[in-house]
Amino acid sequence: MFSNTIVFIDAGHGAINKAGQYTTAPSKMFRHSKGTFHQGSTFLEGVWNRTVTNQVMRKLDVLGITYRALHHEYLDNSLQQRVDAVNWYAKQFERSIVVSSHANASATQAARGFEIYTSPGTTESDKIASIHWNNVNLLRNFYPLGAQIRMRNQASGSDHDNEANFYILRKTNVPAILIEHLFFDNFDDATLLMDDSVVDLFAEAQVRTIIEYFNA
Ligand SMILES: [Zn+2]
Repeated sequence: MFSNTIVFIDAGHGAINKAGQYTTAPSKMFRHSKGTFHQGSTFLEGVWNRTVTNQVMRKLDVLGITYRALHHEYLDNSLQQRVDAVNWYAKQFERSIVVSSHANASATQAARGFEIYTSPGTTESDKIASIHWNNVNLLRNFYPLGAQIRMRNQASGSDHDNEANFYILRKTNVPAILIEHLFFDNFDDATLLMDDSVVDLFAEAQVRTIIEYFNA
């Protein structure tokens, strides 16, 4: 679909190794008091991140859009390793973009909603964040549970992106966004994240954002 472009797809943290162990920090999982998630009532962020990125990569395959995953199927690749891959491969292409998928957690389990992060200051990444915010917001109208997805408004200014010094945003030499797909430690948000149509909404939005950005 595009010549000389590459999309770096990143699923945050690690997942379940062949021995059935979660390969990433305990903070990247949450045991709910009810419901069924990845391991009984426990929600595993790293596993969910791969669920959405797998769906994104399937869609990119169909469209013939070149991508490279920064994450391993289950190992918790270091941030340095992921950034090094971006900066090495980006040199071989004219245009590239990093889309990092995560889900969020809060101190009280009360926080809910969707957020996008970019590095501080006004950069090309802000353009992507704005496109992506609009795509998620729009697709909420066409998916069964879309209306239940809360769009978290930002404290600072009219931008739809939060600014943070996340390593993957700061150290990559190309435009990058980090998406916090709802709060996995909130029962209602976690329940939404387990729904296939919600996963598809978020994946579809990423693909449309990638296409719109490369076309702009
Ligand atoms: Zn995360």
